[in-house]
Amino acid sequence: MRDGGRSNDVRSGTARSDDARPSAARSDDARPGGRRSWWLREALAAEPPALRADAAPPFAGSGRADIAILGGGYTGLWAALRLIELAPGARIVVLERDVCGGGASGRNGGFVTGWWDELPTLVARHGVDEGVRLARAIGDAVGEVGDWAASVGVDPWYRHAGFAQASAAPAQDGAWREAVELCDRLGLRDEYRPLTADEVRERVVSPVFRSGVFMRDGATVQPALLARGLRRVALERGVVIHERTSARPIRTNRHGGPVAIRTRSAAGDGTFVADQVVVALNAWAAAWPEFGRRLVTWSSYIVLTEPIPDRLAELGWTDGEGITDARFTLHYGRTTPDGRIALGGGGGRAGFGGRIGRVFTHDAGSAARAGAGLRRWFPTLADVRIEDAWGGPIDITADHLPFVTTTGRGRVHAGLGFSGNGVGPALVVGRALAALAALGDGAGEDRWGSLPIVGAVPRMFPPEPFRYLGARAIREAIVRRELAEEAGLRPGRVVAAVSRVPRRLGYHLGPD
Ligand SMILES: Cc1cc2nc3c(=O)[nH]c(=O)nc-3n(C[C@H](O)[C@H](O)[C@H](O)COP(=O)(O)OP(=O)(O)OC[C@H]3O[C@@H](n4cnc5c(N)ncnc54)[C@H](O)[C@@H]3O)c2cc1C
Repeated sequence: MRDGGRSNDVRSGTARSDDARPSAARSDDARPGGRRSWWLREALAAEPPALRADAAPPFAGSGRADIAILGGGYTGLWAALRLIELAPGARIVVLERDVCGGGASGRNGGFVTGWWDELPTLVARHGVDEGVRLARAIGDAVGEVGDWAASVGVDPWYRHAGFAQASAAPAQDGAWREAVELCDRLGLRDEYRPLTADEVRERVVSPVFRSGVFMRDGATVQPALLARGLRRVALERGVVIHERTSARPIRTNRHGGPVAIRTRSAAGDGTFVADQVVVALNAWAAAWPEFGRRLVTWSSYIVLTEPIPDRLAELGWTDGEGITDARFTLHYGRTTPDGRIALGGGGGRAGFGGRIGRVFTHDAGSAARAGAGLRRWFPTLADVRIEDAWGGPIDITADHLPFVTTTGRGRVHAGLGFSGNGVGPALVVGRALAALAALGDGAGEDRWGSLPIVGAVPRMFPPEPFRYLGARAIREAIVRRELAEEAGLRPGRVVAAVSRVPRRLGYHLGPD
């Protein structure tokens, strides 16, 4: 089921068997779906009773808020924390259809990375000064996540070790060249610098890795511990959170008055009236009429191995650095403190009409592709058991970057479109949303509210069913092309041509 109801992986009610600590591994544990991500199961199991469901009860009836935030992931929760600073005394309410962190924020790979690889796009869109200012703000967010966590006693396993990207096939060589050269020209060489094959090998030994690139603005976190830590601090600071409460698409008040948000939960239907609304719904916003055409939804899956600390030592992968290959259907791998590998990507599936259904949670094929990526990177780990697998939705925009926009006669502010890279950027987007909601026209004076990401609404995608059919055909072509390239084969002419369609149509998506 989709918005307004309950999804297939999220059953409402307070007692959930999968909220308990992960059980011992079973051979079928690697099938995705049916339970939450390993990250979120760990995080929920570690929470003291006082912070569990009763701290954020479902909502029914009628309520009033100064600022209502829809969505309790990183974006919504960073916005809430910033609003406390910008609007002291305001009644801030978060409405979350599942539990905070139940969306992508509790399921992702935990890469907190900067945007120096995006610099050519940022400079083309916003000019050198503003493009660099935006990249700097996102880069700073990597450190700010860690500083914030340390300052409030949240331990999300934060490790600021940088982030490396490696070519895993000749076709991927130099995928970063344009960004590296631009950083060089602008005196930003240290932000994003090439690595020789030997330097890649010093980080982790893989027979398929070639040369690479290194971004020092890079950290890893246990993503759900971060999301639940944000929730804890928000609650402690007076934010009211209603979990397992779904908001219905907003109808803007024609007279410009406060916004009425209809809600649904197991406790009953409700209406919340708020002066300002922050929409932080990630891929779920694709089902909302005002945002749907700006987003394509896509699934991403992660597999998690059993603990193998000795084998990681053999690979030389011991310093907590995250690493990706350079496919468009990226593989991303990182380690955990107990010596597991979490590796995701390899090509998920497109969603239809903004529905976030089973394809985002139960797709064994997409999880298998992530698993195949792991085996290809590390053939010596063929005997290592994959203990868990899960998936989630990402919200892709035409330029592969998030946007912040205001609608609803100045009362509704949305931050969407992270395109699979939102762990660090959500801090920036959340704070920009808070500036818009609290300061209105004064947001332009705020460090985050003045960033050029505000108002940079991406172009639209075609309507359904063309959006879905196009995304599906192009995804298939891109996956086939990249698999062929990895196997040292030339992709077929039709496959190569279809994979280039988004670029030909002016979208900043897919390979050239
Ligand atoms: C498998 C996977 C791996 C990823 N890996 C990385 C990575 O390593 N690094 C990186 O930077 N990014 C990664 N991402 C992307 C990143 O997780 C997201 O960009 C980020 O979490 C977005 O945060 P958010 O708060 O906007 O969205 P979410 O965390 O998804 O929050 C949106 C919330 O809205 C709630 N919601 C939906 N509909 C309603 C409604 N009607 N009413 C109320 N609430 C509603 C949802 O339940 C959800 O909790 C990954 C994503 C996935 C799925």
